[in-house]
Amino acid sequence: MEKLLITIDGPAGSGKSTISRLLARHLNYKYIDTGALYRGIAFETVSHKIDPDDEPQLNGLLERIDLGFEMTEKGLRLMSNGRDITGQIRSPEISMMASRVSAKPRVREKLFSLQKKLGKEKGAVFEGRDMGTVVFPEADVKFFLVASVEERAKRRFLEMGDPPSQTLEEVARDIQKRDEDDSNRKIAPLKAAPDATTIDTTSLDIHAVLGKMIDVVRSVLQEK
Ligand code: C5P
Repeated sequence: MEKLLITIDGPAGSGKSTISRLLARHLNYKYIDTGALYRGIAFETVSHKIDPDDEPQLNGLLERIDLGFEMTEKGLRLMSNGRDITGQIRSPEISMMASRVSAKPRVREKLFSLQKKLGKEKGAVFEGRDMGTVVFPEADVKFFLVASVEERAKRRFLEMGDPPSQTLEEVARDIQKRDEDDSNRKIAPLKAAPDATTIDTTSLDIHAVLGKMIDVVRSVLQEK
């Protein structure tokens, strides 16, 4: 059967990661979490104490880092210059820094080419903010997931360990700030592609969302 390139975009906590992983597994496709790449750059920025607004320093860092995914016995891992940084990219500090560095043109250029390389072979689900609009406007199937801020904050809060590193109110505040910055930045802002199927996941469970997506994918495959 023909293999497709599928994109899933949407704001933080809209259910993208869980759903993308499940959809990729269902179809036996690759799953690429592009937010992890922005988080990888954010992690290196913080580790090297670089001010993201200091362009020469940030550009120097970008030249030195080599990011990529590697499949190991622990699952899919994010590697930076050969070092596994998967466990260090999910903190609130890195989330906010990822959003900051993602507005920098050189950061987006570097990751654009990396993402294009990863998408050369079809049979992949790419998850992010600008997958269907900028990186893969030619994708076969595009989804845009949305959910209310309250629901998204609740999901992120419940994903945090015990004790949680933030209160529910802090999670909601960070999510709103990231949404605003991601949607209003000049390059590759968060928005639905005109040909994307938008799904509001606020009151749907994961399996209902997955079911809707599988229906769309099936009908596209039938038309091919
Ligand atoms: O999806 P995740 O929350 O891991 O993404 C972290 C940040 O990376 C987002 O807030 C966004 O600023 C940035 N990002 C992006 N474009 C993508 C994926 C993520 O700008 N394709």
